[in-house]
Amino acid sequence: MEKFNVTSQLRQSEAMYHNLLESFPDPVIIVGDKQRILTVNRRFETVFGYNRSEVIGRPVEMVIPEHFPHRLDYLGECPLNPGTGSMRHPLDIFALRKGGDKFPIDINLSPIETVEGNAIIATIRDISEQKQNIAQLEYQANHDRLTGLPNRNLLEDRIGQALLQAERFQQLVAVLFIDLDRFEFFLAGLNHDMRNEIVKNIASRLQACVRKSDTVARLGDDVFVIALSHLQEREDAAKVIQKIQNSVNHPVEQGLQVSEISCYIGISVYPKDGREVRTLLKNAEVAMFRAKERGGSCFQYFTDELSDRIEIRMTMERCLRQALENKEMSVHYQPQMDLQTGRMIGCEALLRWQNPELGAVSPGIFIPMAERTGLIIPIGEWVLEKACMDNKRWQTAGHPPMAVAVNLSPRQFWDPGLVKTITRVLHDSGLESRYLELEITESMVMRDMENALAMLRELKELGVQLSIDDFGTGYSNLSHLKSFPFDKLKMDISFVRDVTHDPGCAAIAKSIIAMAHNLNLRVIAEGIETEGQLSYLRLRGCDEMQGFYFSKSLPSRDFERLLAEGRRLEFPKESKGPDISVLVIDDEPKIIAIMARVLRQEGYRVFSTTKADEGFELLATNRIGVILSDLRMPGMDGIEFLSRVSRLHPETVRIAMSGYADMDMVTEAINRGAIYKFLTKPLGNEVLRQNIAKAFQHFQISLPHEQ
Ligand code: C2E
Ligand code: MG
Ligand code: MG
Repeated sequence: MEKFNVTSQLRQSEAMYHNLLESFPDPVIIVGDKQRILTVNRRFETVFGYNRSEVIGRPVEMVIPEHFPHRLDYLGECPLNPGTGSMRHPLDIFALRKGGDKFPIDINLSPIETVEGNAIIATIRDISEQKQNIAQLEYQANHDRLTGLPNRNLLEDRIGQALLQAERFQQLVAVLFIDLDRFEFFLAGLNHDMRNEIVKNIASRLQACVRKSDTVARLGDDVFVIALSHLQEREDAAKVIQKIQNSVNHPVEQGLQVSEISCYIGISVYPKDGREVRTLLKNAEVAMFRAKERGGSCFQYFTDELSDRIEIRMTMERCLRQALENKEMSVHYQPQMDLQTGRMIGCEALLRWQNPELGAVSPGIFIPMAERTGLIIPIGEWVLEKACMDNKRWQTAGHPPMAVAVNLSPRQFWDPGLVKTITRVLHDSGLESRYLELEITESMVMRDMENALAMLRELKELGVQLSIDDFGTGYSNLSHLKSFPFDKLKMDISFVRDVTHDPGCAAIAKSIIAMAHNLNLRVIAEGIETEGQLSYLRLRGCDEMQGFYFSKSLPSRDFERLLAEGRRLEFPKESKGPDISVLVIDDEPKIIAIMARVLRQEGYRVFSTTKADEGFELLATNRIGVILSDLRMPGMDGIEFLSRVSRLHPETVRIAMSGYADMDMVTEAINRGAIYKFLTKPLGNEVLRQNIAKAFQHFQISLPHEQ
């Protein structure tokens, strides 16, 4: 703006004055006495749409309707730009084009002296675009791109305003932290657009649950926060929560499929649970985690007890930061056994943390914390080093070579330095890459299948083995994983735990084994604790096992001792030829004793128990042909027991007995295919003999049914 320093020269030369005006890239107006326009430049004509002759002599309000200084001495009260003698107008100011179109301008004012006296020279810049850009930037800085909802910035601002209001009018403000349950699994396999549509759909559902004065914000992929203002009571939030849950739970269509989403909600309420925005947000999040721990799509208000947890958590976090340095961590190894040969064929490295202040902390607690804080990167690298070095040492000591499996957390898996770290660790330890296995959970892969595939291929190129951990918990379809370079699939412990007595679990376990084999993957069952689980899965083709039944995880030295012993997994002996085992299950031991004696005399092998769960275990472990079960038992009724058995072991012949001829019950059992025959108690010995013999004939005929 140095151009304005030439006031005296302007007076000297009209021509120069004119040239100068025309040399401005922006519109210029010179305003003289009584706010009349003395002259304008050509650029003014282009921008404003007026001819010079149309404006000269007219009041400046015609083109700048407001805030143009009314008096010339006004300028004297405003600070001039140093060095230029000009002044930037302090207010938002608009100009009018011919035809009435209004646009924002930046105006620069300078006093000049003309031959006609004192005047103001105003240079004008159209700042519509600039304003739009600023608005756009502001919008982006404050909103979630996908849904257009406020982001954390704006949310914090809005909660801040709500708190000021609440303080003045003695009201409450509730902060609801909402986490969609298993959302990434839900979205797995959908394309980008479909995913976006679903997120937008959820966003508008949430908005529809609250008033205009409330704020719905999106803080992450599956995290939303709602701030409810003007509440009178703490419980007022519960009504909205009910609405939110109903609305979110409403089925979502995904192509041809219709699925349900559920959510966890944590709530903190001003002023009791915090007087500051950040505290309220943090406490609502803590409450949400508590709701998640409890499971089952629910909500949780923040409580003082939860606040104690925060303290514990903070202490734990502090200790965790020091744990490696203080040598509080160790790696234990749990054997993995082949279900054909009974030999050990690998082991899983499991991290242990023993802290002087906290005692032994479960990995289920500290691993997620390490993950959240990023500490998992150095810790995970240390586990890799330790596992590879130990494995190499065992090999050097002459033990048969086998793979050590190391768990990778999501953060490690997505860490760009992972491949380099693994390469280095393998090199430093001297372990061949095929003896390192990496366990990756199903959820990590499902989150972003495309990038996961690229990552897995890169890892596979190193020559390591890859297994998919906790399989079955992520709702993923195995066919999604067809192109993934996995070698092994670890069936989640939750199926193993119930496999002998829950037909649903058994069916899933069986289909996981069949599908995995189809994809040329080996299957390992984790968490096998009983002989029943072992036999059931082994007989159905599971390849490997890991679990307390054989051994817990052991410190490196004890594990090496186990290797040296060469202990194998023993399998129950299978009877050859046709089965002649009978299971008698009755809550009266005396009745069992009588029946068992009669049947043994006939040459049958007899198993007996008074409890249903023992019955399941016996059935899983032994090849039993005929089952005699009382209908009335403590714990589980006989019909339920037999109908589960019919699905778990469809080849068995099942006979129900009861002292009461409860026809409804019997009819139901027969209709459900649970029983072959019904006998009334007390049973004569001869009736028992005849019926068991017939049942075995039936069993032989129906044998080919089973797998
Ligand atoms: P995971 O990888 O699924 O490991 C198997 C868990 O099952 C281990 O729990 C193991 O001790 C336990 N387990 C094994 N056999 C049985 C059994 O027969 N019955 C029962 N009830 N449990 C059994 P742990 O050691 O508490 O580890 C829990 C989780 O922590 C692991 O689950 C894994 O996800 C994580 N973890 C452990 N070590 C590491 C590590 O070094 N890095 C990472 N990223 N995660 C780790
Ligand atoms: Mg694992
Ligand atoms: Mg697992």
